[in-house]
Amino acid sequence: MVRISVDLNRCEGYGQCVFAAPSAFTLHGLEALTYLPNPPDEMRDAVHRAALACPVQAITVGVQDEPAGTTSRADRHVVVVGASLAGLKTAEALRERGFSGPLTVIGDEPHRPYDRPPLTKACVSEKLPPDRLELPVTRTLDARFLLGTAAVGLDTDRRLVRLADGAAVGYDTVVIATGTRARPYPGTTPDGVLAVRTRDDAEDLQRRLARQPRRVVVVGAGFLGGELASGLCDLGIPVTLVEAQQAPLQGPLGTTVGGVMADLARSAGVDLRLSTTVDEFVAGDDGALRQVRLSDGETVDADLAVVALGAVRNVEWLEGSAARVDRNGVHCDDRCRVLDLEGCPLPDVYAAGDVAGLPHPLFPGRRLSVEHWGNAVTQARTVAHDITRPSGEVPSPHTELPSFWSTQFGVNIKGVGFPGAADRIAVVQGTPGQGSFSVLYGLAERTVGAVTVDNGRYLHHYTALVREGAPFPPEFVTSDENTSPVVRPTGR
Ligand SMILES: Cc1cc2nc3c(=O)[nH]c(=O)nc-3n(C[C@H](O)[C@H](O)[C@H](O)COP(=O)(O)OP(=O)(O)OC[C@H]3O[C@@H](n4cnc5c(N)ncnc54)[C@H](O)[C@@H]3O)c2cc1C
Ligand code: SF4
Repeated sequence: MVRISVDLNRCEGYGQCVFAAPSAFTLHGLEALTYLPNPPDEMRDAVHRAALACPVQAITVGVQDEPAGTTSRADRHVVVVGASLAGLKTAEALRERGFSGPLTVIGDEPHRPYDRPPLTKACVSEKLPPDRLELPVTRTLDARFLLGTAAVGLDTDRRLVRLADGAAVGYDTVVIATGTRARPYPGTTPDGVLAVRTRDDAEDLQRRLARQPRRVVVVGAGFLGGELASGLCDLGIPVTLVEAQQAPLQGPLGTTVGGVMADLARSAGVDLRLSTTVDEFVAGDDGALRQVRLSDGETVDADLAVVALGAVRNVEWLEGSAARVDRNGVHCDDRCRVLDLEGCPLPDVYAAGDVAGLPHPLFPGRRLSVEHWGNAVTQARTVAHDITRPSGEVPSPHTELPSFWSTQFGVNIKGVGFPGAADRIAVVQGTPGQGSFSVLYGLAERTVGAVTVDNGRYLHHYTALVREGAPFPPEFVTSDENTSPVVRPTGR
């Protein structure tokens, strides 16, 4: 069976893959790529040609994974808690670095690791079945997967992970990769109010969409809410998008990019309600959602609502353990080593992905938790490097800049750094609302983030500026006509 995934942070939308395997890859608009994660076997050769042709090597083609028990047992037992992107990538990176000992991956979901980004994109707009999203493995993992099993405790003295069924798994090294879950709506909700975070959620949404809802209300116009609203428009389903702030994506990207997204959403037919919240989900006699009462005094008839209010970190299972956790995640040092209550690294305990909070050289003294796909991958590599590092080798801190992408309303948004921390932005290429454009984000005279809209191939250049904390406003003259960057408050 062929399995592929594309690192859409890397993809620059040149379309070589579309040329090599047009049935598996599709470019929408200027830059937004979608692909069949699990194409039919007869496409295998074309998919391999596509992977070879990709100039930035963004395409991963999977290999058949072997069951555990075929390698020597020379090394220590590594237990990874959380069987999703960060967990899988840690296991993969350990094997890549030659780790040959026993490897156990514990996950509370019943499924093998799968990719979440398509859940709010292709699974809605293209009705892609969520069971097609299993992440490819690039090498034999030889790992034992304990799936459908939640970890409920970590005993670092006895080196045990305690499971919900009463069993315990001993470890020499443990990696915490339990990620996040959807932030629940803070009130009662009738049947027909959902969140989309997991494969099962997306299957539930698809079943309900197949019943042709009169209207869907999406609550929260962040990345996921915008993607959902966009996909619903593609399906021709009437959608109301409710956002408490003045613009979509205002928290992470500010009002300049948010304003453009608001215009795009409205042009696509979305009934966009800004500076508005939900007062009540009203049920009919059958107990199912019938109306949504809004803070602007209006009531919207709808039989389905999707709440997209951000995420909560899965740290409760660590309460009472020696690990230091709070609502921003598991406290780590710059090598992803988990800290104890005094702030010292716990021996052989690591964290990676959405659940981990790390310092970053761009923001000394702060601990940052990042909820992006690329961050889970790079932190997994940092963890595997530290676990397998020979004693003489210099440790390698995690200094990667976060990067992210989103596709909605026909445009591709890509970003790098920490735009959410900035107080000013500068438009450095193009004009917001008129095709492609790029903005830089500044804080205290330094460049701390960059975002491109349908302009991803320029992101490398801006990434270098963010990495070096270049002066803000920028001093360079861009290659297009916008030679004097427009600087304005980010607006949040
Ligand atoms: C719908 C959606 C769309 C997204 N789109 C994008 C995008 O376009 N671009 C982008 O950059 N990022 C995107 N992301 C974010 C990206 O998917 C995450 O950053 C990534 O999944 C993080 O991986 P993770 O392994 O750290 O955590 P998660 O994917 O959250 O996985 C954690 C796993 O651990 C399990 N777990 C939790 N507690 C326990 C326990 N006690 N015991 C055992 N298992 C446990 C969870 O059930 C889950 O399976 C999206 C996320 C979602 C949900
Ligand atoms: S960069 Fe790679 S993945 Fe992206 S469109 Fe081009 S060939 Fe395809």
